[in-house]
Amino acid sequence: MPVPHETDVFIVGGGPAGLAAAIAARAKGLRVTVADWSRPPIEKPCGEGLMPDSLEVLRQLGIAIGSEHSFPFGGIRFVAPGASVSASFPSGCGLGMRRPVLHQLLADRAAETGVQFLWGARVTGISSDGVLVNGERLRSRWIIGADGQSSNVRRWADLDALHRYKRRFGFRRHYRVTPWSDCVELHWGSGFQFYITPVSPREVCMVLISQNRQLRIDEALEGCPELSARLQGAIPAGAEQGAVSLSCRFKQVARGRVALVGDASGSVDAVTGEGMCLAFQQAVKLADALAAGDLRMYAAGHRRLMRRPFFIADAMLLLDRFPGLRDRAMRALSANPAIFSTLLAMHVGARAPAAMVTTALPLGWQMLTAGRA
Ligand SMILES: Cc1cc2nc3c(=O)[nH]c(=O)nc-3n(C[C@H](O)[C@H](O)[C@H](O)COP(=O)(O)OP(=O)(O)OC[C@H]3O[C@@H](n4cnc5c(N)ncnc54)[C@H](O)[C@@H]3O)c2cc1C
Repeated sequence: MPVPHETDVFIVGGGPAGLAAAIAARAKGLRVTVADWSRPPIEKPCGEGLMPDSLEVLRQLGIAIGSEHSFPFGGIRFVAPGASVSASFPSGCGLGMRRPVLHQLLADRAAETGVQFLWGARVTGISSDGVLVNGERLRSRWIIGADGQSSNVRRWADLDALHRYKRRFGFRRHYRVTPWSDCVELHWGSGFQFYITPVSPREVCMVLISQNRQLRIDEALEGCPELSARLQGAIPAGAEQGAVSLSCRFKQVARGRVALVGDASGSVDAVTGEGMCLAFQQAVKLADALAAGDLRMYAAGHRRLMRRPFFIADAMLLLDRFPGLRDRAMRALSANPAIFSTLLAMHVGARAPAAMVTTALPLGWQMLTAGRA
């Protein structure tokens, strides 16, 4: 497709964040162009779980996910040596679905709303009044960096100053097996976690996350006997694929006429399963700010959106670093699953973070008493 001369919003990156931002901006009546150097459906190593709050935003964007494309899960189960605990979502369910299928749904919805696409196009620079795409200059009132973790737009707009940064490594593999649980399961190993999302009646998606870039799925499975037993006889579907999982925050996410969205604007550790939810929620806030012509609104909304997932990510990384603390927490939660239910409700935004204050005391007490058991 030829590069248009002018647009209201130019989005660099057509991943989940860029497409959600495009759909939300079109709903405000803005002309939108999206460029990505790949072509749909775009694949990426991912846990492939959409929490109920992600689905809520997708519905707002006009995307309904049918059962032919997905598999439901009703809650989360934590499993550690000698203890396990599970809780259901306070309402609704989450969905597991293959990443390319989700990407195609988003791309189709964006096209339906009138977004203009430049697939296979490389953005090589931005200027005060537009962008350089495939060597041609295109004028745009707003420029959105939705170009992922290693965002060039972030660097070009001088928005790279970090507030915080933690890096882990994720490896993903699918297995052909009937899902054995109606939950996403998180198995705690020594210095790593596995999480398993059912993505179809015959397939699960498994992700290993750790700080050790050398650790691979088969080796880590030796330290998780329950999970290994579940996978006995399951056939790996496709190769193991790796990705970096960042917990990072930038001092600013907007400057002048440039704003960042999705992983380009910061991200939470993959173990939270919140990356795409955040991207979708940010997209909606960004469109409101673009329509109002005020990116400060977006910066403030973005800061608020990041608080809860970062809190959860910090708690999970603490349990990863201190196995003794994790064992006590697991024993305490399995002795009092209602606390786990409250934490899960907070995680999916159904309870205010203030619920943590009322949860911390009983959890602390349980950790002291259950720890002595
Ligand atoms: C191991 C792992 C497991 C995860 N599991 C989950 C999960 O279960 N649930 C969940 O919600 N989240 C999960 N996440 C997080 C989620 O994958 C990310 O938050 C999500 O991909 C962010 O989308 P994005 O659009 O911001 O970035 P990306 O998906 O990285 O898309 C960026 C796009 O920009 C394009 N691009 C970049 N530069 C240019 C350029 N100069 N010109 C043109 N195009 C460009 C790229 O081709 C790419 O398509 C996981 C992450 C990891 C690492």
